[in-house]
Amino acid sequence: MRQGKLIVVEGIDGSGKSTQVELLKQALNCEIISFPRYEDNEYGRLIKNYLEGEFGSINEVDPYKIACLFAGDRLLAKPIIEKWLSEGKIVIANRYVSASKAHMGANLPEGKREDFFKWLGELEYQTNGIPKEDLTILLKVDPVVAQKNVKGGGPDIHEENLRHLEEAGRIYLYLAKNNPKWYVVDCMQDSNMRSIEEISKEVINICLKLI
Ligand code: ADP
Repeated sequence: MRQGKLIVVEGIDGSGKSTQVELLKQALNCEIISFPRYEDNEYGRLIKNYLEGEFGSINEVDPYKIACLFAGDRLLAKPIIEKWLSEGKIVIANRYVSASKAHMGANLPEGKREDFFKWLGELEYQTNGIPKEDLTILLKVDPVVAQKNVKGGGPDIHEENLRHLEEAGRIYLYLAKNNPKWYVVDCMQDSNMRSIEEISKEVINICLKLI
């Protein structure tokens, strides 16, 4: 019997998800899970290989196959998320199914995305049976600024490709527009990011309305 709530925080790389999720943890005393879990399981390790370019460039890999790796990682997390929810806890997921929609969808032509979204939803929520999110918060950040935020990390074929980040960002906004359970937090003010504290207040308030 599910009594808790599953809240997802989304946004392109460098949009501030980890920062905001950490602040949510302090404010709401909730459980946190971050995807992908690179070191936790074989799916995560293969995702790392993919992001490091070992399977080819972003245009060479099959989005459907890569989406299976991300789905496998989430499937392995199902028991722990379900346990927290059954205990009535607030669970914050740093990225979830929608991240695969945005990032894998960005590698598909626009006309083929809806079929992919439908296929992925069926795979993850029906076949794999992972919990559905109650709310998704999208951190909207200019991709150029977001990319600067993540500079200095290891190789990552998503992060280093501005066109990819722009396209993923557009898909996120499209998903938000078509789903009443999504909230968009505009993290930009003019061409800079708003302060971490200001964004956090908005994110916490959105969560408080749900719980
Ligand atoms: P993500 O998890 O979305 O990749 P992070 O939370 O790791 O993003 O943030 C990436 C970098 O940007 C970090 O160095 C973080 O301190 C910084 N950052 C996050 N939010 C802001 C903000 N509002 N203003 C300035 N820097 C920020």
